This record gives sequence, C-alpha cells and structure tokens, in this order.
Amino acid sequence: MKYKSTRGGVAGIDFSQAVLMGLATDGGLLLPEEIPKVSKEVLERWRELSYVDLAYEVMSIFADDIPAEVLREIVERSYSTFSHPDVVPLVKKGKLYIMELFYGPTLAFKDVALQFLGNLFEYLLQQNNSKLNILGATSGDTGSAAIYGVKGRKNMAIFILHPHNRVSPVQQMQMTTVEDPNVFNIAIEGTFDDCQYIVKSVFGDLDFKQRYALGAVNSINWARVLAQVVYYVWAALKFDMPIRVCVPTGNFGNIFAGYIAKRMTGLIDKLILATNENDILYRFVTKGDYSVGKVVPTISPSMDIQVASNFERYLYYLYGEDPQKVASAMEEFRKTGSLSFSSEEMRKVEKDFISGFATQKETLETIKRFYQETGYVLDPHTAVGVKVALELFDERYPTVCLATAHPAKFPEAVRRAIGREPDKPEAIRALEGKKRRFVVLPADVKEVKDYIAQHAI
Ligand SMILES: *Cc1c(COP(=O)(O)O)cnc(C)c1O
Repeated sequence: MKYKSTRGGVAGIDFSQAVLMGLATDGGLLLPEEIPKVSKEVLERWRELSYVDLAYEVMSIFADDIPAEVLREIVERSYSTFSHPDVVPLVKKGKLYIMELFYGPTLAFKDVALQFLGNLFEYLLQQNNSKLNILGATSGDTGSAAIYGVKGRKNMAIFILHPHNRVSPVQQMQMTTVEDPNVFNIAIEGTFDDCQYIVKSVFGDLDFKQRYALGAVNSINWARVLAQVVYYVWAALKFDMPIRVCVPTGNFGNIFAGYIAKRMTGLIDKLILATNENDILYRFVTKGDYSVGKVVPTISPSMDIQVASNFERYLYYLYGEDPQKVASAMEEFRKTGSLSFSSEEMRKVEKDFISGFATQKETLETIKRFYQETGYVLDPHTAVGVKVALELFDERYPTVCLATAHPAKFPEAVRRAIGREPDKPEAIRALEGKKRRFVVLPADVKEVKDYIAQHAI
C-alpha cells in the first residue's frame, strides 16, 4: 500500500517511509492512497482470531513492505507487555459495553499505539542504519506512554520535557522511575506551555535537529492511527450486528482510527464523539462550527485541546479527497481560527458521527452514578464518553465505550466522585518505592539544547 499527503505534495511512498516521515514534508498528514474494503468472507474468518492475530492481519494490509514474519514478531512483542490475555477486553456494564484499553504498561490507551511504534521504529532504524533522538513535551499520558515505547530500544533515545511539579503524581512517577539509560526526563521550571515552546524552538533549529537526528512520536504518525484501527475492528467482530463506538476525544487521533475501521468493515453504524468542556469537535459535529476557543483545564486533561491535530485527515475525506481544498482550508484556519461547512458537507458528517459533551460536574456525577449502578469505577476521560453514550443511547445498536485510562491514574477525581480512591493495580504499586530520575532545568532553550547535545545517542 502506498501513502500520500492530505495536501497533495507527497505521494507514492510506502509504509516504512510514511512512518519515518511522521508529518508529511508538505506540512500535511499522511494517509493510505485508498482505504481498503474488507470482504464479508474475510471478516467472518477474522472473528475467530486472537487480538494479536487480528492485529497482524489488519496491519499487514497497510504495512505490506514489512516482511510478514518481522511484522508478526513486532506485533507479538508489542502486545506481550499488556497484562490482560485479551489485550483490550470488552466487558458489559449496565446497558453499555466498555472496551478496556488500559492494560498496557502506563495504563492508558496510548500504549496500544506507542508500544507498536517503538518496536517498529527500532526495526526501521536498524534497516536504515540510522538513529533517532525523540523529543517531546508532555502534560501527562503521552509522555509516559512514549517513554515506555522507547525505553531499552536500540538506536533510540528519548527526551521528555514536563513542567516541574505540575504533572499528576502518578504520571510523574511513571515517567521518572524508568531506569533505562536511553530515557531522559527533563523537568522544566515553568509551565506546560514553556515546555512546548522549548520543543518547538529546538525543532525549529534545523541544523541542530539534523545533527542530533531529532524526531517526534506525536499522534499524527500514521503507525499510531493504524495500531488503533485494530481494536475498533476487534470490537465490531464481537457482535453480529452493526455497533456504535463512543470515543472520549481530544486530538481526533483515536476516533479517526474508528473512521478508518468503519469504512474498512462497514460494521460500525456511527462513531459517538464525546468531548469535555473543550468542545470544538462537538460544535463541529452538531453545528458545523469548527472555531478555536480557549483551552479550559479539566479533570480529563488528556482531552483539553482546542486544535485537533488529526482533524485534517478527516477533512481530506470530507472534502472529497481534494488536497487543494484541504490546503486552503488549513491556511484559512491558521489565519482566522475558524472553519465553516456547507449543509451538504454536514450531511456527510452526520452519516459518520453523532456527538455530545460532558461538563466536569456531569463527569463526576457519571463516575458516581455508574459506580452505584454497576460497581464499576470509570476514569474521568472514560466517564465523559459514558455520559454521552447514555444520553445518545439507541437500543438498536450495541454501544461500546472506549475506556482510555485506568481510574487509578486519576485518583483525585475519582475520590471526589465516589469518596474513595480506586484500587491501585500492580503496575502502579510496583513503582512506588522506586528512585526518581530526572533533571531540573530552567525554561531556557539553550540549556535544553546543551543537555540534549551532551546526552543524544
Ligand atoms: C490521549 C487521550 C485521549 C484523547 O485521545 P485523542 O486521540 O487525542 O482524541 C483520551 N483519553 C485519554 C486517557 C488519553 O490519554
């Protein structure tokens, strides 16, 4: 399968090149040249497969330039770090199904993609005889999942900036207790915005970027989307009728994978897009209004975004695969902070998505009520989805809510909702006595560059 850019400046590259490129060189995002349709016969055969076998089947369609036995081995290794035999089990609670995506090493769904991406990068770098120093800023989940994806991998190191004393205690612990020598935690004396600014500035120095082979593992990498497509297919194959999937959404990465799965299989009736008070995507689906607001910090922090980095991929299909139209829309959005859509375009959107949002108060109430009714403890991100899924529930369709994090990652919010903290899984308890490894640096681009220069591989 070949890949192309949403803005038309890249075409005909293969999967490996698309993964190594990350962001397309024309500033767009990479997509497969066609979304494959899976036949009924093949889908029937897939129903029998284990998660790992299904992941291999789905990914091999998209990653056909990776030797089959290599891909299989990478997939097996990536999901052997999950602590549940089904990898992403589906449980029924009340009238909803919950797909638990939090059995990876950092207890959030980002592990599903980043465990795979880390192993894949290691292989591709080895093939190309090259190396990579990953640089990123985090306010939470992405940093720890990226660190666990890269730790111990050959020819790679990772530098993650976080705001000193301003990430949650669990996330700080997950990031800084990793012992592998290729992991560098940098606590910046400043805010998350300072961290992001520094990362942007370092990447902006193209000489420096090239000299130290700097790269990113952010959610726009196609391999991350691909790894996420698998669990939508997995969920749909558990039922003999079309399902709906409810997705607590931030950057539109997870739900975009659902869109690909929907088009590939025809087994998903609608995707339910759930947001917190940062509701730009809710306004898009329900009113055709995609305009930037101010970011409001909430108890579901991984969804606190306004500009959704993967949205451009969906725009490409909404605009009838017209790269010029995407490029000019993105330019307009950059200038005005807003996009509007025709009624014809909105009819297309409504075929794929319905949407709702939850305020923080509603999120806490949902955690409480769901616990009282089912005995099940939701994390605040998952609770946003459950609130919306219940509100929009249609009994004709089995509704699967994606559980994007384990509640023990957000003990404070859970305690506010149900009066006690959630039980700690072994993955957290095992870290508690461990030594923390990080350096504290001032919010200064030069100091960070010096540190990277000294420690890069
Ligand atoms: C990243 C994240 C999300 C949002 O996912 P997107 O792909 O950005 O839409 C939701 N919940 C949790 C727990 C996350 O870490």
